[in-house]
Amino acid sequence: MTGTIFNIQRFCLNDGPGIRTTVFMKGCPLHCAWCHNPESLSFEKELLYNAERCVGCRKCETVCKQGVHIFGDGAHLLEREKCVFCGECASACQFGALSLAGTEMTAAEIVAVSERDINFYRNSGGGVTLSGGEPMAQFELSLEVASALYKKGISVAIETSGTASGDKYRKIAEFTDLFLFDLKLSNEELYKKYTGGRLETVLENLKVISSLGKDVILRLPIIPDVNGDDAHFEFAAAVANGYPTVKSIEIMPYHALGEEKQRRLGREAAVFRAPDKNEIDGYIEKLSRLTDKPVKRG
Ligand code: SF4
Ligand code: SF4
Repeated sequence: MTGTIFNIQRFCLNDGPGIRTTVFMKGCPLHCAWCHNPESLSFEKELLYNAERCVGCRKCETVCKQGVHIFGDGAHLLEREKCVFCGECASACQFGALSLAGTEMTAAEIVAVSERDINFYRNSGGGVTLSGGEPMAQFELSLEVASALYKKGISVAIETSGTASGDKYRKIAEFTDLFLFDLKLSNEELYKKYTGGRLETVLENLKVISSLGKDVILRLPIIPDVNGDDAHFEFAAAVANGYPTVKSIEIMPYHALGEEKQRRLGREAAVFRAPDKNEIDGYIEKLSRLTDKPVKRG
C-alpha cells in the first residue's frame, strides 16, 4: 500500500501524550477556510514558491524541462499547470525558495521511520499520531500503518475531522488508542459554509468512536470572528460532557501561518484575525466553567 505523505515529524509533544512521531498524510475532503496546513488539502503533490527567498539566479528555469519558471521585467512567474512535480527545481534552488509538498511512501516505509523512536515512546507514554490532511481519507494506508504499529506494541493516535464513514472508524479503532477529534463549528449552516462538510456526520462518528470505548481528546480550532462565541463553547462543552470517553479538550487558536503558505502555493488566502493571549486564556476559562473535563491550549 502506497500513499502521499507531506511530512513525518519526530519528537512531537503536541499531538497526543508523550513523545510522538506525527505522520502528515496529504489530502483532505474538507476545505476549512483557516487551514494552517494548506499544503495538506490536495491529494496531489504541490510546488511551494517563497518569493521573499528568491534572488533571481534563474537556476530553476535552467533545470525545469516543462518551462514552468518564467522570468521577465524582474518578475519570476510560475506556470503551475505545466508542473509534473519532479522536484528538480526545488533541489537546484540554493536559496530554499522552492519546495515540493508530497512524497510517495509505502506503509512499510512509514512504519520503519516511525519505529525508530520506539524507546522514546515507551519511556514517555507516547507513540505515533496519524495526521494530515485527513488520515482517514487515505484509509487503506492508515489502516495498514496503524495495524502494523499496533502489533509492534506502539500506541497509535488518529487526528481526524470526524468526516469519514462510521465503518472506517470502527475498523481502525481496533488498532487505535486515542482519537484527536476536531469539533470545528456548532451549527450545520456554518459547518457547510466554512468546511464544506456535514456536522451531523461528525457528531455521529464521535458517537461511534465513544461506543467502542476509545479515548478522545476533543480539539476546538478557534477563529475569534467565526466561532469564538459563547454559543460555540456551550455547544462544545455539552458534546464533551455527553461522553465519558472524552478525556480532555484542547483549544487550537487560529494563527496566520497558513495564509503565507496559501500564497506560496499560488492560491488566494482567506484572512482571519488571530486571538491574543488574553483571549485564549478567556476561552479556556469560559470552557472550564462549562465542563469538568481538563481544558488546555493545544
Ligand atoms: S533557483 Fe531559487 S533563487 Fe534562483 S530564481 Fe529559481 S527560485 Fe529564485
Ligand atoms: S517540480 Fe519539476 S516540473 Fe515542476 S517546476 Fe520544478 S522542475 Fe519544473
